[in-house]
Amino acid sequence: MVAAERAGMSQVELDAADCVIDLDADQASCPACMGTIPKGSVMCPECGLRIG
Ligand SMILES: [Zn+2]
Repeated sequence: MVAAERAGMSQVELDAADCVIDLDADQASCPACMGTIPKGSVMCPECGLRIG
């Protein structure tokens, strides 16, 4: 991710962006709340963190 893409992002999103999320997996773990994010979801159903 380049610096320009970070503009306007909240700190929690920046933290999440530094984590690797395998979107090809059946599900992923939210880097913010560690909740389960179903495949195809663009945001965490637990905390609403955008991962897409
Ligand atoms: Zn979450």
